[in-house]
Amino acid sequence: MTSPNIGVLALQGDVREHVQAIERLGVRAFGVRRSEEVDRCDGLIVPGGESTTMIKLARVFGVLEPIRRGIADGLPVFGTCAGMIMLADRLRDGADGQETFGGLDATVRRNAFGRQVDSFEADLDFTLFDDPVHAVFIRAPWIEEVGPGVDVLASVPIADGPGSGDHPTDRIVAVQQGPMLATSFHPEVDDDLRLHRHFLDIVSEPLETR
Ligand code: GLN
Repeated sequence: MTSPNIGVLALQGDVREHVQAIERLGVRAFGVRRSEEVDRCDGLIVPGGESTTMIKLARVFGVLEPIRRGIADGLPVFGTCAGMIMLADRLRDGADGQETFGGLDATVRRNAFGRQVDSFEADLDFTLFDDPVHAVFIRAPWIEEVGPGVDVLASVPIADGPGSGDHPTDRIVAVQQGPMLATSFHPEVDDDLRLHRHFLDIVSEPLETR
Protein backbone atom coordinates (compact mmCIF):
# COMPACT_ATOMS: atom_id res chain seq x y z
CA MET A 1 0.00 0.00 0.00
CA THR A 2 1.37 3.46 -0.80
CA SER A 3 0.04 6.04 1.65
CA PRO A 4 -3.02 4.65 3.42
CA ASN A 5 -6.23 6.64 3.92
CA ILE A 6 -6.63 7.09 7.66
CA GLY A 7 -9.97 8.46 8.82
CA VAL A 8 -10.73 9.82 12.26
CA LEU A 9 -14.40 9.65 13.23
CA ALA A 10 -15.17 13.35 13.59
CA LEU A 11 -18.59 13.48 15.24
CA GLN A 12 -17.37 14.47 18.69
CA GLY A 13 -14.30 14.20 20.90
CA ASP A 14 -10.54 14.67 20.47
CA VAL A 15 -10.40 14.35 16.70
CA ARG A 16 -7.68 16.91 16.00
CA GLU A 17 -5.13 15.27 18.30
CA HIS A 18 -5.44 11.97 16.42
CA VAL A 19 -5.20 13.69 13.02
CA GLN A 20 -2.03 15.43 14.21
CA ALA A 21 -0.51 12.21 15.58
CA ILE A 22 -1.05 10.42 12.25
CA GLU A 23 0.25 13.38 10.26
CA ARG A 24 3.38 13.56 12.41
CA LEU A 25 4.04 10.03 11.15
CA GLY A 26 3.94 11.36 7.58
CA VAL A 27 0.49 10.01 6.66
CA ARG A 28 -2.52 12.17 5.76
CA ALA A 29 -5.58 11.80 7.98
CA PHE A 30 -9.10 13.13 7.41
CA GLY A 31 -12.28 13.58 9.44
CA VAL A 32 -15.07 11.05 8.85
CA ARG A 33 -18.69 12.21 9.12
CA ARG A 34 -20.39 10.60 6.15
CA SER A 35 -20.81 7.07 4.88
CA GLU A 36 -18.77 7.77 1.67
CA GLU A 37 -15.90 8.81 3.93
CA VAL A 38 -16.15 5.54 5.86
CA ASP A 39 -15.86 3.69 2.56
CA ARG A 40 -12.67 5.60 1.68
CA CYS A 41 -10.89 4.50 4.88
CA ASP A 42 -8.08 1.95 4.92
CA GLY A 43 -8.08 2.46 8.70
CA LEU A 44 -10.43 4.30 11.06
CA ILE A 45 -9.67 5.87 14.44
CA VAL A 46 -12.55 6.27 16.90
CA PRO A 47 -11.44 8.97 19.35
CA GLY A 48 -12.07 9.63 23.00
CA GLY A 49 -14.99 11.84 23.96
CA GLU A 50 -18.41 10.76 25.17
CA SER A 51 -19.65 7.44 23.85
CA THR A 52 -23.35 8.13 24.54
CA THR A 53 -23.22 11.26 22.37
CA MET A 54 -21.00 9.66 19.74
CA ILE A 55 -23.36 6.74 19.14
CA LYS A 56 -26.37 9.06 18.78
CA LEU A 57 -24.49 11.24 16.28
CA ALA A 58 -23.27 8.16 14.39
CA ARG A 59 -26.89 7.23 13.81
CA VAL A 60 -27.94 10.77 12.86
CA PHE A 61 -25.01 11.12 10.40
CA GLY A 62 -25.73 7.70 8.88
CA VAL A 63 -22.33 6.17 9.66
CA LEU A 64 -23.39 3.59 12.28
CA GLU A 65 -24.21 0.80 9.82
CA PRO A 66 -21.37 1.62 7.37
CA ILE A 67 -18.86 1.42 10.24
CA ARG A 68 -20.40 -1.84 11.51
CA ARG A 69 -20.15 -3.25 8.00
CA GLY A 70 -16.59 -2.03 7.65
CA ILE A 71 -15.56 -3.70 10.91
CA ALA A 72 -17.29 -6.93 9.89
CA ASP A 73 -15.35 -6.79 6.59
CA GLY A 74 -12.01 -6.40 8.40
CA LEU A 75 -11.50 -2.62 8.38
CA PRO A 76 -8.66 -1.84 10.81
CA VAL A 77 -10.03 0.28 13.66
CA PHE A 78 -8.28 1.97 16.59
CA GLY A 79 -10.52 3.03 19.49
CA THR A 80 -9.27 5.14 22.39
CA CYS A 81 -11.23 5.61 25.63
CA ALA A 82 -14.80 6.37 24.45
CA GLY A 83 -13.61 4.81 21.17
CA MET A 84 -12.83 1.57 23.01
CA ILE A 85 -16.36 1.62 24.44
CA MET A 86 -17.71 2.09 20.90
CA LEU A 87 -15.93 -1.08 19.73
CA ALA A 88 -17.05 -3.34 22.59
CA ASP A 89 -19.38 -6.24 21.93
CA ARG A 90 -20.53 -6.10 25.57
CA LEU A 91 -20.91 -3.01 27.72
CA ARG A 92 -21.35 -2.59 31.48
CA ASP A 93 -22.50 0.64 33.12
CA GLY A 94 -23.64 1.97 29.76
CA ALA A 95 -26.52 4.43 29.55
CA ASP A 96 -29.96 2.80 29.18
CA GLY A 97 -29.97 0.87 25.88
CA GLN A 98 -26.56 2.25 24.86
CA GLU A 99 -25.45 0.71 21.57
CA THR A 100 -21.94 0.31 20.18
CA PHE A 101 -20.37 -0.41 16.80
CA GLY A 102 -19.16 -3.68 18.30
CA GLY A 103 -16.70 -6.15 16.79
CA LEU A 104 -14.33 -6.39 19.74
CA ASP A 105 -15.01 -9.61 21.64
CA ALA A 106 -14.69 -8.01 25.06
CA THR A 107 -16.72 -6.75 27.99
CA VAL A 108 -15.94 -3.11 28.65
CA ARG A 109 -17.01 -1.29 31.81
CA ARG A 110 -17.68 2.37 31.14
CA ASN A 111 -16.35 5.04 33.56
CA ALA A 112 -14.77 2.17 35.49
CA PHE A 113 -11.88 4.07 37.03
CA GLY A 114 -14.00 7.19 37.14
CA ARG A 115 -16.11 5.92 39.97
CA GLN A 116 -13.12 6.35 42.24
CA VAL A 117 -11.17 9.09 40.49
CA ASP A 118 -11.76 11.07 37.29
CA SER A 119 -8.29 10.92 35.83
CA PHE A 120 -4.83 9.57 36.51
CA GLU A 121 -1.60 8.71 34.73
CA ALA A 122 0.48 5.53 34.79
CA ASP A 123 3.53 4.04 33.07
CA LEU A 124 2.38 0.80 31.47
CA ASP A 125 4.40 -2.19 30.36
CA PHE A 126 3.28 -3.12 26.87
CA THR A 127 3.80 -6.50 25.23
CA LEU A 128 4.58 -4.65 21.97
CA PHE A 129 7.34 -2.33 23.18
CA ASP A 130 10.60 -2.48 25.12
CA ASP A 131 9.91 0.69 27.11
CA PRO A 132 6.76 1.53 29.07
CA VAL A 133 4.04 3.78 27.67
CA HIS A 134 3.03 6.83 29.70
CA ALA A 135 -0.76 6.61 29.74
CA VAL A 136 -3.27 9.36 30.51
CA PHE A 137 -6.67 8.09 31.71
CA ILE A 138 -9.72 10.40 31.72
CA ARG A 139 -12.99 8.94 33.03
CA ALA A 140 -11.68 5.78 31.50
CA PRO A 141 -13.25 2.41 30.84
CA TRP A 142 -11.48 -0.89 31.52
CA ILE A 143 -11.91 -4.34 30.06
CA GLU A 144 -13.29 -7.03 32.35
CA GLU A 145 -13.27 -10.05 30.09
CA VAL A 146 -11.94 -10.91 26.64
CA GLY A 147 -12.72 -13.62 24.13
CA PRO A 148 -10.12 -16.10 22.85
CA GLY A 149 -9.14 -14.03 19.79
CA VAL A 150 -8.17 -10.98 21.83
CA ASP A 151 -4.56 -10.28 22.84
CA VAL A 152 -4.05 -8.31 26.03
CA LEU A 153 -1.35 -5.69 25.36
CA ALA A 154 -1.31 -3.87 28.71
CA SER A 155 -2.94 -3.83 32.13
CA VAL A 156 -2.89 -1.51 35.11
CA PRO A 157 -1.59 -3.51 38.09
CA ILE A 158 -3.94 -3.23 41.07
CA ALA A 159 -1.26 -1.58 43.16
CA ASP A 160 -0.78 1.25 40.62
CA GLY A 161 -4.34 2.18 39.78
CA PRO A 162 -7.41 3.37 41.62
CA GLY A 163 -10.50 1.26 42.03
CA SER A 164 -9.00 -1.91 43.47
CA GLY A 165 -11.82 -2.48 45.97
CA ASP A 166 -14.52 -4.11 43.89
CA HIS A 167 -12.32 -5.65 41.15
CA PRO A 168 -9.45 -7.53 42.75
CA THR A 169 -7.57 -8.24 39.49
CA ASP A 170 -5.34 -6.25 37.16
CA ARG A 171 -7.37 -4.09 34.84
CA ILE A 172 -6.92 -4.65 31.12
CA VAL A 173 -6.45 -1.31 29.36
CA ALA A 174 -5.08 -2.18 25.90
CA VAL A 175 -6.01 -5.01 23.54
CA GLN A 176 -5.72 -6.13 19.94
CA GLN A 177 -8.03 -8.46 18.07
CA GLY A 178 -6.78 -8.95 14.52
CA PRO A 179 -6.93 -5.48 12.91
CA MET A 180 -8.74 -3.90 15.90
CA LEU A 181 -6.75 -2.00 18.48
CA ALA A 182 -8.23 -0.42 21.61
CA THR A 183 -6.89 1.48 24.60
CA SER A 184 -8.64 2.80 27.72
CA PHE A 185 -6.31 5.78 27.75
CA HIS A 186 -5.46 8.64 25.39
CA PRO A 187 -2.24 8.01 23.41
CA GLU A 188 -3.05 11.06 21.24
CA VAL A 189 -2.41 13.53 24.09
CA ASP A 190 1.22 12.45 24.41
CA ASP A 191 4.27 12.85 22.16
CA ASP A 192 4.70 9.08 22.09
CA LEU A 193 3.59 7.92 18.64
CA ARG A 194 4.30 4.21 19.04
CA LEU A 195 0.65 3.12 19.23
CA HIS A 196 -0.33 5.20 16.20
CA ARG A 197 2.67 3.73 14.34
CA HIS A 198 1.56 0.25 15.38
CA PHE A 199 -1.90 1.01 13.99
CA LEU A 200 -0.38 2.16 10.68
CA ASP A 201 1.60 -1.11 10.59
CA ILE A 202 -1.67 -3.06 11.03
CA VAL A 203 -3.27 -1.04 8.22
CA SER A 204 -0.32 -1.78 5.92
CA GLU A 205 -0.42 -5.54 6.48
CA PRO A 206 -1.91 -7.43 3.57
CA LEU A 207 -5.46 -8.55 4.33
CA GLU A 208 -4.66 -12.27 4.28
CA THR A 209 -2.03 -12.00 7.03
CA ARG A 210 -4.15 -9.99 9.50
N1 GLN B 1 -16.57 8.36 29.99
C1 GLN B 1 -16.58 8.56 28.57
C2 GLN B 1 -17.65 7.72 27.89
O1 GLN B 1 -18.35 7.02 28.48
C3 GLN B 1 -15.22 8.25 27.98
C4 GLN B 1 -14.20 9.26 28.44
C5 GLN B 1 -13.14 9.60 27.46
O2 GLN B 1 -13.20 9.24 26.26
N2 GLN B 1 -12.17 10.34 27.91
O3 GLN B 1 -17.80 7.76 26.71
